[in-house]
Amino acid sequence: MNLILIGPPGAGKGTQAQRLIDLLKIPQISTGDMLRAAKAAGTPLGLEAKKHMDRGELVPDQVVIGLVEERLKAEDCRSGYMLDGFPRTLPQAEALEKLLGRMNKKLDHVVLIEVDDEIIVERITGRRSCPKCNRIFHIKFDPPKQGACACGYRGEMVHRADDREDVIRERLRVYHAQTAPLVEFYRKQGLIRAVKGVGSLDEVFDRISKVLGSKGA
Ligand code: AMP
Repeated sequence: MNLILIGPPGAGKGTQAQRLIDLLKIPQISTGDMLRAAKAAGTPLGLEAKKHMDRGELVPDQVVIGLVEERLKAEDCRSGYMLDGFPRTLPQAEALEKLLGRMNKKLDHVVLIEVDDEIIVERITGRRSCPKCNRIFHIKFDPPKQGACACGYRGEMVHRADDREDVIRERLRVYHAQTAPLVEFYRKQGLIRAVKGVGSLDEVFDRISKVLGSKGA
């Protein structure tokens, strides 16, 4: 199966993507992960990407299109793939269409996870992580029990710099301006499968499984 996963930052795409690849046995192609790896490795591409990523902006189209093109050629994408975080702009979607045409591949579904902005801001700004084992908490919805993590750490939990309200609002603004138009692009092709991203992780996953199943997947 060939999929794209679209949704605002903080919609839970990463978690749902992980479950989907386990279920469908297809590789996940996350441009965010690929760019973070390049950034951590300090490659020229990673250094270029870092400038944009740290400000909540998108990395230039040509950079990500090149990365995806290389990745889609890999052997493990022959029986399917899931694109997560790509395409993010109309030029990326158009480039992908040409690329898939050249490679004789097609798209089956574009899963859209919908969550209101204010819910996302509340989810992300309340996020904290354990400095010892990286487990994620939420100060309101999932606080550490008796002030301690299951790993034994007891103390202040970490608030990541990119979970700050101004950064998340900028990423949401970019999403609405640049990524939301893609929904129309794929809706015209009859590919959009929209699901509500609120409720438990299991509930959201059930909704996704249903929309994929009901389309004969
Ligand atoms: P993500 O983990 O998908 O939220 O991506 C983190 C950051 O990587 C984004 O805020 C962008 O700066 C950059 N990024 C990831 N995917 C893309 C893409 N398809 N186009 C441009 N920038 C991207």
